[in-house]
Amino acid sequence: MKKGDLIEHARQYYDLEQVNRLEYAVNFASTAHKGQNRLSGEPYIIHPLITADTLISWGMDIDSAIAGVLHDTVEDAGVELGQIESLFGHDVALLVDGVTKVSQASSEMKKFETYLPKTKDNLSKLLIAIGQDVRVIIIKLADRLHNLKTLQYLPPEKQKKIARESLEVFGPMADKLGMGRVRMEIEELAFSYLDPVEYKKMKILLKKRLGKSTRKLGKIRSEVDSALKQHNISADINGRVKSIYSLHKKLAKVNGNIDDIYDLMALRIVVEKKEDCYIVLGILHSLYKPMVSRIKDYISTPKPNGYQSLHTTVITPTEQIVEFQIRTEKMHEFAERGLAASFHYHDQKITKDYIEKRNVTSLPQNLHWISELQEVVGKLKEGEEISKDQLDIDLFGDRIFVHSPKGDIYDLPEGALPLDFAYLVHSDVGRNAYSFRVNGKIHAFDKPLKNGDIIEVVTKKSSQPKQSWRQLVTTTHARNKLQAQLRQSSVVGMISTATSILRRKSY
Ligand code: MN
Repeated sequence: MKKGDLIEHARQYYDLEQVNRLEYAVNFASTAHKGQNRLSGEPYIIHPLITADTLISWGMDIDSAIAGVLHDTVEDAGVELGQIESLFGHDVALLVDGVTKVSQASSEMKKFETYLPKTKDNLSKLLIAIGQDVRVIIIKLADRLHNLKTLQYLPPEKQKKIARESLEVFGPMADKLGMGRVRMEIEELAFSYLDPVEYKKMKILLKKRLGKSTRKLGKIRSEVDSALKQHNISADINGRVKSIYSLHKKLAKVNGNIDDIYDLMALRIVVEKKEDCYIVLGILHSLYKPMVSRIKDYISTPKPNGYQSLHTTVITPTEQIVEFQIRTEKMHEFAERGLAASFHYHDQKITKDYIEKRNVTSLPQNLHWISELQEVVGKLKEGEEISKDQLDIDLFGDRIFVHSPKGDIYDLPEGALPLDFAYLVHSDVGRNAYSFRVNGKIHAFDKPLKNGDIIEVVTKKSSQPKQSWRQLVTTTHARNKLQAQLRQSSVVGMISTATSILRRKSY
C-alpha cells in the first residue's frame, strides 16, 4: 500500500478539501514514523495507511480515516496529542486519543495469564477507553484486522495471545456492533493462529462437503431464480459458505456430527423491499417442503444485535437440505457493516448529528446501549474507575426486545425483570406498578422476561415502591430510579411523621 493508492481511493468518496486534509495527515504520519519498521521489515507507515484504507472501504467519515492514518503517532512516535488537535482539529484528536487508550487497556490485559474468566473485564476496560466516541472502536477494529493479517511475523507466543484476545474481545465487540463481516474476518484469522491443527481439519472437512453440494446447489439456484422472475421479483441470489470458526463452534454443539448442520452453505436472496422478503418466502415454500421448526422471522423480531433476515430450511425433491436467507439490501448492508453503516459517507447527516450531540439517538435502536455506556462514562470523575456493577448487567449480557401492548419496542438486557421494563417506560409507571401481564398472562415480579414478550403494566396510585423491590430490578436505570423514589418516600414519610407529632403537640 502506497500513499498514492490511499489518496486515489479517498478521491472516490470525499470532496477535495477532505482529501487534502487526509493527504496532509499522511505526510505528517510519514514524518513521525520515519525510520520505524514493522516486524515484517516493511516501513511502519504501511500499517496506518492500510488501517485508513480499510476504514474508507467500510465507508467511514473522513475524520475516522484521518484518525486511522494518525492512530499510532502518539503511542509509537511520541507525537503530542495537542499537536494533533491544533493541526487536525478536536474531533480527530479525540479519536486518536481514544484509540491510544484502547491500546493501553489491551496491553494491560496481556498481563493476565488466564484469559477466559477475564473476558468481561477486558471488554469493559475497552469500552471505557472508547470514552465519548464510538468511532474509536471501529478504528481499533480496522487496526486489529491488519495486525492479524501480519501476525506471522510475531513470535508464536505473542501470536497466540493476540489471536486469543481477538477471539474473546474484538470478535464479540464487532458482533455487538452488528459488524458481521468484520467479526467473521477477525474470527477466521484469529482461529487459524490459536488452533492451527483444528483450523486445518475444519477447512478440509468443509471443502469436502462443499464439493459435493455446490453443483446441486447451482441447480436449485437457477430453479429459484426463474421462479422469482416469473413473479417479477428482482433479486440477487448468492451462495454463502459457513465460516470455519462458526463450523468449529457449531460442531461442538451437535456432538461433532456434521450431518446435523444444515447451513454449511446457504443461499442468500437479496431483494428491494421488505414485502418482497415474505413473497419470496412464500414462493420457496411452494417450490420445496420447509422444515417448519427452522423458519425464523428475524425481520419482525430482529436479533439483539439488530440482524434482520428471514431464514428457512427446505427439503428439495432430491432430498437435499438447503437453507435460505432472505433480506433487503438495507438489511444486508446492516448485517455486514453494522455500526459502521451508520457513519457512511453517503449519509453524513447522521455522522454530523452524532458528532454534535455525541449521543446515539440517531443510531439504530439496538445500539442504544452505547449511549447508556457513554452516560456512565460521562459522569466519571478524572481517574475514577467504573464499578463492575454499573457495566456488567446493563451492557454485557445479551439484549432482548420486548413490546408494550401498543407495540412500542423496548431494549433490555437478558434476564431483565418486569420492574426493569416498567421503569424503562416511565419512572411513574415503575413507581405505581401493581401487577404485570405478559403475553396476556399474569406474570410474577421475579420472573425474567423473554425476547418478543408483550408486557402490560397494571398500575395503581396506591401502589408504592417497596424496599423489597431492590431485589426485583436488574438494570442500572431501574435501580437508580427506584433508589431515588425510596429515598424520596422515606423523606416524605419522615416529614409527615414529624408534622403529625408537631400537630399532636400543638393540640
Ligand atoms: Mn496500530
